[in-house]
Amino acid sequence: MTPMAWTYLDPRGMGITLSLSAALLALVLLITNRALGGRLPGMQQAAGGVLLASLGFTLNMLQAWLTPLAGLVLAVVLMVAGVALVLGGVRRLRGMSAHWGWLLACCLVGLAIALWFGLAAPNPRWRIGLLSLLLALLAVLLARTALGESRAQHQAGMRLLALLGVVFAVLMGLRSVAAALGLVESSVSSTLVNSASVLAAGMSLIGGVVGLVLVISGDLMALVEHQRTHDPLTDLLNRLGLRQWVGQQASHVPLALGMVDLDHFKQVNDTHGHALGDQVIRHLALLLKASEFPNCRAARLGGEEFVIVALGPDQATPLLQTLEQLRTQFQQGGPLPGNTLSAGMARGHVGGFEGTLREADAALYRAKQAGRNRVESAQEVPIFDAVG
Ligand code: GH3
Ligand code: MG
Ligand code: MG
Repeated sequence: MTPMAWTYLDPRGMGITLSLSAALLALVLLITNRALGGRLPGMQQAAGGVLLASLGFTLNMLQAWLTPLAGLVLAVVLMVAGVALVLGGVRRLRGMSAHWGWLLACCLVGLAIALWFGLAAPNPRWRIGLLSLLLALLAVLLARTALGESRAQHQAGMRLLALLGVVFAVLMGLRSVAAALGLVESSVSSTLVNSASVLAAGMSLIGGVVGLVLVISGDLMALVEHQRTHDPLTDLLNRLGLRQWVGQQASHVPLALGMVDLDHFKQVNDTHGHALGDQVIRHLALLLKASEFPNCRAARLGGEEFVIVALGPDQATPLLQTLEQLRTQFQQGGPLPGNTLSAGMARGHVGGFEGTLREADAALYRAKQAGRNRVESAQEVPIFDAVG
C-alpha cells in the first residue's frame, strides 16, 4: 500500500532542518541590522526573537536525545520568549511601547506550564494544549500589531508578518483543540497534525525573517529616495524632488513661483566663517518651511538659492505676501540679524515650469540690481485686494 503523503514529512527531520535554517537567517539579519547601525528601533529584538524561537524549536525536536529540562523546559521557554520578543520588537518597530512586563509574564506562564506539566506532573495533553494556546495568543497579538502598520515603506514586510501571525495562530489554536481532544501526544511523533504543525511553524519562523528583511529593505529604499530628492543641509526638497512634486500635476495647472537668494552671502562666509554661513542657510530653510501653505512647497536649488512654488489658480498674491513676510522675518531674526535676501516671482503653469523658473530668476536679478532686500515680480500682481 502506498503510504500517505504526509508520512514523508517526518516532523523531527523537517523541524530540525527548518528551525536551524531560520536560526541561521535570523543570525544573518541580526548582523546585517547591526552593520546598518540599528536604524530601526525594535528590529534587533524582533530578529533576536526569531533566533531564540528557532533554537527553542530545534531543542524541542531533539528532545529524544536530551534531558527533559533541556528538551522540554528550556525549549519551551526559548520558544515562548522568542515569540514574545518578536512581538515586542514589532511593537517597537511600529513606534509603540513594547510592554516588556506583559511579555515577561507570558514567558513565566510558559515556564510554569512546562515545569508543571512537563516535569512535576507530566501530562502532554495539558502541556501541549496550554502552550499552544499561549503561542496562539502571542501570534494573534503579533498579527494585529503588524496589520496596523500604515507607513508605505514598512507595509510589505508587516503584511507578511501579519499573515504568518494568523497562520501560526490558527495552527496553534487547532493544535490546542487537538491536544484537548487527546489527538496530540508529542510534537515529534509522526502524525498528520504534527507534520502540519512543524511544517507551518518552521515556515513561519523563516517567513518571519523574510518579513523583517522586507521591513529593513523598504526602509532603506525610502531612505535612498529621500536622499535623492532632499537637500542634506536643510532637508528641504532639492531640484529633483521639486520637479517630481510639480510633475505630479497636469501640465495645464497654473502655478506661482518665488526664487529667493541671500544678499552678499559670500561676505557672510568670508567674515563669519562657513559654519555660521551654514547656520544662516538652515535658518532661512526653517522660515521657508514654516511659510509653506496648502499646495505650496519650498526647495533648495543649490548654494544659497531657494524656490517656493504654489500650485493652483490665484496663488500669485498669497505667494507675493509670503515672500514679503519672509524677507522681513529673515532680516529681523536668525543667527545674523540685519542680513537680507532678495526674491523674484513669476506666474506660469506646470508644463512651462522651467520657463517660469527663468522668469523668476530674471525678476530676482532685477531685485539685486535695484539694491537688494526686495521682492520683484515678473508680472503685475494685485497684492492687497485678494488677501487682507
Ligand atoms: P548676491 O547678493 O549678488 O547674491 O551676492 P552673493 O555673495 O550672495 O552671491 P555669490 O553668488 O557671489 O555667492 C554665493 C555664496 O554662497 C558663495 C558660496 O561660498 C556660498 N555658498 C554656497 N553654498 C553654500 C553652503 O552650503 N554653505 C555656505 N556656508 N555657503 C555657501
Ligand atoms: Mg546671493
Ligand atoms: Mg546665488
